Amino acid sequence: VVDCLFCRIVAGELPADIVYQDAEAIAFRDIQPQAPSHVLVLPREHVSGLDAAVSMRADALGGLFQVAARVAEQEGLADRGYRVVVNTGPDAQQSVGHLHIHVIGGRQMGWPPG
Ligand code: AMP
Repeated sequence: VVDCLFCRIVAGELPADIVYQDAEAIAFRDIQPQAPSHVLVLPREHVSGLDAAVSMRADALGGLFQVAARVAEQEGLADRGYRVVVNTGPDAQQSVGHLHIHVIGGRQMGWPPG
């Protein structure tokens, strides 16, 4: 999609520190990490957010979560744990309109989120 930042990364038009990719998904480091490990997992296909993901194939959406778990393992987070977040819409401060899962870990976190 024209003017979508993450579509441009998927297309290779913008650089990213890619840690995993396959035919359907890509994962790269967040440019503004909120923890020692902070990776974004997204579908190559443009989907605007979780609200629009009802149109995705269930296995494609589920596959993104499997990639998130795989990335967490690769980042060495599996033992201590990590957080998976999908910010959706204004109240959650979603800032990029291309569905992405944050995989955040490497430090103790708090709950509830701010
Ligand atoms: P959200 O606010 O949940 O929509 O998440 C968007 C995330 O994308 C933020 O954590 C940003 O730091 C991150 N981000 C923005 N631009 C880039 C970029 N060029 N490369 C990697 N991460 C980015």
